[in-house]
Amino acid sequence: MAKKMVYFFGGGKADGKADMKELLGGKGANLAEMSKLGVPVPPGFTITTEVCTHYMKNNGKYPKDLQKEVNSALSKVEKIMGQTFGSPQNPLLFSVRSGARVSMPGMMETVLNIGLSSKTIPGLIQKSGNERFVYDAYRRLIMMYSDVVMEKSSGIEVPEGKGIRHQLEREMQKMKDTKGVENDTDLDAEDLKKLVYIFKKKVKQILKKDFPDEPNEQLWGAISAVFQSWNGKRAKAYRAIEGISDDWGTAVNVQTMVFGNMGSDSATGVAFTRDPATGENIFYGEFLVDAQGEDVVAGLRTPQAINNESKTESSKKLPTLEELMPENYKQLVKIRNKLEKHYHDMQDLEFTIQEGNLFMLQTRVGKRNGAAAVRMAVEMKKEKVISETEAILRVKPEQMDELLHPMLDPKSEKKATLLAKGLPAGPGGGVGQIVFSADDAEAWAKKGEKVILVRDETSPEDVHGMRAAQAILTAKGGMTSHAALVARGWGKCCIVGCGALNIDFRKKTLSVDKTTLKEGDWISLNGTIGSVYLDKISLMPADPDKNEYYKTLMSYADKARKLGVRTNADNPKDSKQARDFGAEGIGLTRTEHMFFGPDRIKAMRQMILAEDEAGRKTALKKLLPFQRKDFEGIFKAMDGLPVTIRTLDPPLHEFLPNDDAAQKEMAKQMGISVKDVKSKVQSLHEMNPMLGHRGCRLGITYPEITAMQAQAIMEAACKVAKAGVKVFPEIMIPLIGTVKELENQKKVVQEMAEQVMEKAGIRVKYMVGTMIEIPRAALTADQVAEQAEFFSFGTNDLTQMTFGYSRDDAGVFLPEYVEKKILPNDPFQSLDQTGVGQLVAMGVEKGRSTRKDLKVGICGEHGGEPSSIDFCHRVGMNYVSCSPFRVPIARLAAAHAALKNK
Ligand code: PEP
Ligand code: MG
Repeated sequence: MAKKMVYFFGGGKADGKADMKELLGGKGANLAEMSKLGVPVPPGFTITTEVCTHYMKNNGKYPKDLQKEVNSALSKVEKIMGQTFGSPQNPLLFSVRSGARVSMPGMMETVLNIGLSSKTIPGLIQKSGNERFVYDAYRRLIMMYSDVVMEKSSGIEVPEGKGIRHQLEREMQKMKDTKGVENDTDLDAEDLKKLVYIFKKKVKQILKKDFPDEPNEQLWGAISAVFQSWNGKRAKAYRAIEGISDDWGTAVNVQTMVFGNMGSDSATGVAFTRDPATGENIFYGEFLVDAQGEDVVAGLRTPQAINNESKTESSKKLPTLEELMPENYKQLVKIRNKLEKHYHDMQDLEFTIQEGNLFMLQTRVGKRNGAAAVRMAVEMKKEKVISETEAILRVKPEQMDELLHPMLDPKSEKKATLLAKGLPAGPGGGVGQIVFSADDAEAWAKKGEKVILVRDETSPEDVHGMRAAQAILTAKGGMTSHAALVARGWGKCCIVGCGALNIDFRKKTLSVDKTTLKEGDWISLNGTIGSVYLDKISLMPADPDKNEYYKTLMSYADKARKLGVRTNADNPKDSKQARDFGAEGIGLTRTEHMFFGPDRIKAMRQMILAEDEAGRKTALKKLLPFQRKDFEGIFKAMDGLPVTIRTLDPPLHEFLPNDDAAQKEMAKQMGISVKDVKSKVQSLHEMNPMLGHRGCRLGITYPEITAMQAQAIMEAACKVAKAGVKVFPEIMIPLIGTVKELENQKKVVQEMAEQVMEKAGIRVKYMVGTMIEIPRAALTADQVAEQAEFFSFGTNDLTQMTFGYSRDDAGVFLPEYVEKKILPNDPFQSLDQTGVGQLVAMGVEKGRSTRKDLKVGICGEHGGEPSSIDFCHRVGMNYVSCSPFRVPIARLAAAHAALKNK
């Protein structure tokens, strides 16, 4: 490796800058940038992510000159600080932290106070004049280092609660118990000195190694451990969930320690330049006096608000930073303004005040939930901090989901029994059965249960369970605790710091005063106000229309996008919902969904059981009025907008019961023998029903089905048109592989349409088109377009048939395919642009070579997935169609696609 490996920052200078995140990680790049901006940053240096990848590839070996570069950066830091690493008189201490390209909160390791040893301790005591502080720092070093470096990074796996850190914590608790005190701060210098001795003995006894007493050995041990934590269990799990590449690696930041625990004029805190929960433009943060950073996150003490705007239920009576340290607060506000202006985005800041001097330890783009993201984007656009284009791109399409988040039904909530109150860390409602470990949460959720994960506090080791849970509830922790940060990032309902909860992890119970709940009991959370209820409360869908910021952002998006957005809906209610969410038409009505109602299934089954065409026609006559009524409702709901209706698609056996009891019931209802039912089921049995008698093949063998459907559609259209509704039916033939199939079905539809319009005495403009969902249809799209007036890509079937994976059975192996990286992701969720995408692109191009103005859309599941929507934009489709609740996501994703592909 010939390239530069170590980047220095400090003293108003830096080797790196903000746009070097890939090399320096987010934290390192921003430390460099802040330093250049003149923000007070403790000096240090960043070892690049390239060193991490080298280290991983070479079995833990470093590039040749790394040590030299580290030493040179270290001397620069020593010069600025006027201190020396390892010096007995004036020792310099370091923190060693991870920092990937994108923030992975708490997923990797940190070691603080590196450089404390038997040689340096006396010097630091003399310099600080505070023996207690020095021994406290030392006991923290031993706890972190033995855990992170000596245990975890050596690959020692221990059961939960048995690790070295827990054992040391127990020793500390023992000491507090013996002294009869409650807080760590009640231990004096003598106690801590003893504790340090006990800790070292324990480390030796358990880990069979002495605690290293050489500052340099500590430093390199910590650097290696941080690099290794990139491949730690929780970091890997988080990356898998967030879709972060395993190849990026982390940078390591070695930075001068500053101490927030040097007495009452010292403090440490976390702040956001705007409220990350609501997006409001207020400075929001919390801090602790006489504490180190980990104390704020660990949630053992109740954090205080930095100002009145940030006060919560638990901090409302405590003094603010503005009151306690007004000068430092003023300085912090100035830095807040400077950083937000510089970065044009909400920042998440970490600061420490050491004996009255403010230092910034970190700035990064702050995580926010969907609602906050939308509000910030719109307000920043209005404040002229960002452009309209930036405002649109600021919000991830998936985040719209959170605005559409369900809430607890307020009426039921009023009547519900309040169990406890905590901090509102993640808005929305969550209802589920309680479980007490992340593994249980995951296992229960896999079985289809809805669970709420209850913990004292969460740690990054819990992420898989947090993901699987409906909501998260913790007894400890503040608004910037791990649970709060992670849940906010995901837009998940979450309540933290619910101090009234007494959790017995072993017995799997939770009690508040005299009420005890056990695993599996139901509770409900209102994450917007922090209330925990005993009951199972019903959830209400969200109402984004009341949210002005959302509406404004959507109006920006609608201006920017080129793609139309339609919905897949089979009934008037869903159609209306989708229209309220901004759908501009229906891209797919699956008519078969209309045949399952109790009043319709009997006629459908009669049709299937019929021996001949006459028998089928009699049964179809009974279905006709139902279909017509459904279509009337949909046309009315979509007045003025196009509605694509697909003729019958699934194999007929799907309409017959499989099990004995249901077959008996059907026989009784239809007045025939069970034997007859069974023999019909038998006769319809297919080896590969998805490749069998379905789609247009049904309509070709039983044209009377297509005819009945065309009649129902056109009669409904004529009727509502007469009543003044603007109706644009688009009749769609599924699963064609050759143009002849379409020609055949089109003729049936057209003949019927003419008859109906003639009889009704009114003409309605309608179209006949087809789905492109069989590879052959895409390959011969130029021929198909001779007959088709529009195309709609059925990418569910097209994916199935291109890969040869049964869409109903692929669940068995696809997750493993993704895990083993045989596929980058599930192709049924996001379109395989490399393979299936070729057929789509070819279909569009060939279709339009025959019919220049051919309308083309997509109605497979991919129509609501942002990366697939980007693809649809690029191949020049006219619209995407997706389920109603994904319509806002699709609108924003379509705008992103238009702006990114300019
Ligand atoms: C498709 O195949 O993509 C499609 C929309 O049809 P269905 O899912 O009903 O088979
Ligand atoms: Mg299909």
